Amino acid sequence: ARAKHMRERMVFYAPAMNARVAETLLIENKLRSALERGQFALHYQPKFDAHSGALCGLEALIRWKDPDEEGLILPARFVPLLEETGLILPVGEWVMNEALRDYRRWREAGLSPPRIAVNVSALQLRQDSFTRSVRSAVGGADHAERGLELEITESMLMTRVESNADKLDAIRDMGVSIAIDDFGTGYSSLQYIARLPLDTLKIDRSFVAGMTRNTTDREIVASVISLAHQLHLKVVAEGVESNEQAQLLQQLSCDEVQGFLFSPPLPPSRVEALMRSSRRLDPPAALH
Ligand code: C2E
Ligand code: MG
Ligand code: MG
Ligand code: MG
Repeated sequence: ARAKHMRERMVFYAPAMNARVAETLLIENKLRSALERGQFALHYQPKFDAHSGALCGLEALIRWKDPDEEGLILPARFVPLLEETGLILPVGEWVMNEALRDYRRWREAGLSPPRIAVNVSALQLRQDSFTRSVRSAVGGADHAERGLELEITESMLMTRVESNADKLDAIRDMGVSIAIDDFGTGYSSLQYIARLPLDTLKIDRSFVAGMTRNTTDREIVASVISLAHQLHLKVVAEGVESNEQAQLLQQLSCDEVQGFLFSPPLPPSRVEALMRSSRRLDPPAALH
């Protein structure tokens, strides 16, 4: 009876699985040409100073305009495939260059953009050529004008700590700053964190979500902030969605906040409008 049951299950599932594989292949092929066809776009999510409410950073987030689908496709649906296929290497380079093109364009327009952060994948960081591609992206501009920051997730920094530290050192020498992203979700030891050349620590949004609901998460956030400050790192809270979270973060001396409460990721034209207007949370009601 068991074998028969299995057979039926196989018959039932096999076509569905093939369909999934076929869909993955289809998307993969489309992704291969998406870069050439200019189908990727960057949106930017602002970061604000938790005390003054001033605009103090922009995070570039990739979107895919697949002509066969309505609207923009979010990274969860294609970044893992870009990573599996290695396409994240050319796409990641495009992201860095595109973000800096926007940055320079905004500077030339007199908009004084804040620093721009781009997300970097483990595969990019692992390449020997990574330092070189950062250098070629920031090249030209003088030190002070290089408003680039790299966001690297905690988990990927914890393998090959020594060689990562060397690369990050070289990158920071170019005037590019380094943030550790989604902090709290990996298994990093404090020793490693202290040894890595970092500027900023971004608290993962799961802790921000939990901090107004349970004391454990609140205590984790409080100790991460104080640890970071002892290491002279700036702290950004991601995924801030409520006033209550914002107020608590401010009380805990978190430096910067980012989240739907303040702004979703915006297309470049809306970022420009934000920079032309007050550039400040006005009033910083969410914070007071
Ligand atoms: P991340 O770097 O941690 O980015 C934060 C994600 O949370 C973004 O999703 C953002 O839209 C979303 N978010 C922001 N505020 C809130 C909030 O208040 N509540 C909630 N629930 N979500 C919020 P998005 O744009 O879909 O990006 C997801 C992830 O994809 C990013 O996580 C990053 O790991 C990856 N990613 C995005 N762009 C790139 C890229 O250019 N290269 C690489 N390698 N990865 C990227
Ligand atoms: Mg990020
Ligand atoms: Mg993050
Ligand atoms: Mg996160």
